[in-house]
Amino acid sequence: MTGFTTTAIHGIRSKENPHGTLRVPTYDCVSFEYEDSKAIQQAFEGKRMAHTYSRISNPTVTHLEQTLRLLSGGIAVLAVSSGMAAISNTILALGSAGKNIITTKHLFGNTLSLFEKTLSAWGLEVRYVSMNDMDTIDTAIDTDTCCVFLESITNPQLEVADCNAISVVAQKHGVPLVADNTLMTPYLFNSRKNGVDIEILSSTKYISGGGTTVGGIIIDNGTFDWNKSAKLKEYAARYGSMTFIARLRQEIYRNVGACLSPHNASMQSLGLETLSLRIDKSCESSLEIAHFLSRHSTVQATHYPGLPDSASYDIAQKQFGSQSGGILTFDLKNIDYCFKLMDSLNVIRRATNVNDNKSLIIHPWSTIFAEYRDEEKCAMGIRPTMLRLAVGIEDIADLIKDLEQGLEQL
Ligand SMILES: *Cc1c(COP(=O)(O)O)cnc(C)c1O
Repeated sequence: MTGFTTTAIHGIRSKENPHGTLRVPTYDCVSFEYEDSKAIQQAFEGKRMAHTYSRISNPTVTHLEQTLRLLSGGIAVLAVSSGMAAISNTILALGSAGKNIITTKHLFGNTLSLFEKTLSAWGLEVRYVSMNDMDTIDTAIDTDTCCVFLESITNPQLEVADCNAISVVAQKHGVPLVADNTLMTPYLFNSRKNGVDIEILSSTKYISGGGTTVGGIIIDNGTFDWNKSAKLKEYAARYGSMTFIARLRQEIYRNVGACLSPHNASMQSLGLETLSLRIDKSCESSLEIAHFLSRHSTVQATHYPGLPDSASYDIAQKQFGSQSGGILTFDLKNIDYCFKLMDSLNVIRRATNVNDNKSLIIHPWSTIFAEYRDEEKCAMGIRPTMLRLAVGIEDIADLIKDLEQGLEQL
C-alpha cells in the first residue's frame, strides 16, 4: 500500500479504460446497456457486479468510493449527495420507531435538527449524554439503542471525544459507534483504529477541495458484527461483513434517492488528490493564528485543540497527532466587537462553510444557531461573544496581518 497522498492521487487504476485517460472520466449517463437479457437479469439480481442505473451506482462515483475505501482502511464505502444524506441514510439503516440513539447536544446544527425534529417525528428517541462521561453513556444504552453517534471534533465547541473509551462501552452492549469525521477526515484521524464502526464525512468540506461541490460519504470500517443489530441481523447471514453497505445500496440509499452526481464525484476525486497538502497547510496556519490570537490583548479567549491549555489538547494529541484541524474560535468583549472585527477584514471572507481554500469567519450565535433560543444556544456551548474562523490555505502572513489590522480598530 502506497502513502496517503500517492493513494489519493492514483486511487484504483481501472482496467476498463479504453482510451487510457489519466483522469477517470465523468460518466454523465443514467443507464447502462447489456449484451443480452440474461446479463441484465443477473445484474438486477446482484449476481454480477455491474452498473444498472446511476441512482444506485455510477463508474465515476465508484472511483471516488474506492479511493476513499483505500484511504480510510474501511471495507465498504457509499458516496451520497451530501453530509446530511450520509447521516440520514445511516440512521435510517440502523434505527426504526421505538429505537433510541445516544448522542450529545454538541452536534452540527442540522444533524441535531434531523434527530430532534425529523427522525423523532417517526418514533426515534434521542438520548443526550456527555461524551466525556462513560458511566452516563453506559446507563443510557439499552436493548433498543440503535447506535452511539458523535463527531470526532465538535464544531464550534471544538471538543474531542475519546472514541476508544466510548467504543468499549458501546461494544459491551453490542451497539455500533458512528462518528462524523468531517472536520478531521481519514488523513488526520483513523476512525477504524480508534473504535469507530461507521464513519461519516461531509465531503463538501475538506475533500471537495475549495468549496466546489456538496457530497457525503459513508464508510463501514468492518469492525461491527451485524448479527448483533436487531434491524440488520436477518441480512447478516447473506451479506456477512458487507451487510451494512449492501442494505443501504439495495434498499435504503436506493429508495431514498440521495445519490451523488457523477459531476460532483469527479470534482471530489480531484479534491481528494490534494487533500493532504491542503490539510497540512491549514493546520499549520491554524496553530500559528491560535498562538497569535491567544497572545493578543483584545482577544478574551482562544479555543483550539492544538493549544496546550485547551481542555481537549491531550486527547487531540493522542487521537490526531500533532495536527488539530483547521477551525478555531475566539471570544471578543461583546457582539458589537465581533461584528466590527468581521466587517473590517479584507482577506478573510464572511461566510458559513469550513475547510474551504479560503479562510472564512462567522458569528455562530447570530447565524448558524439563529433558530434556537438563547438558553438553548448556551446549552449547546454557543456564546454571543464567539467568532469561528475556518482557516484556509492563503499565505499565513496575510491572514495574521488581516486579523491584526481588524483587532487594532476595536
Ligand atoms: C457540513 C457538515 C455536515 C453536513 O454536510 P452537508 O454536506 O452540508 O450536508 C455534517 N457534519 C458536519 C460536522 C459538518 O461540518
